[in-house]
Amino acid sequence: MNFPKKPTNPLQGAYCGLVGHRYRVSQRITHHINEYECCNCGKQITDTYSGTTELLTNKNKQVNEKLAEFFRKKQAYFQRKSQPVRIAS
Ligand SMILES: [Zn+2]
Repeated sequence: MNFPKKPTNPLQGAYCGLVGHRYRVSQRITHHINEYECCNCGKQITDTYSGTTELLTNKNKQVNEKLAEFFRKKQAYFQRKSQPVRIAS
């Protein structure tokens, strides 16, 4: 199982508790959904379909993987569809 990272130094977790987390994008899923990781303590969160953020659990990670796969297929489909069709005459 893949659990969120725990802080290696307890002071880093305390720092985040005082001043808040410093999140950076760790993975782009779609144009609107990203996964984030705290630079200090390693806490991972994700955007959800409903527009909120949640802790990046194993279930959310699986949902994001499937969503990313669907998004890539959709992008490839619309890219093929937008290309001109050659008709042999
Ligand atoms: Zn943090």
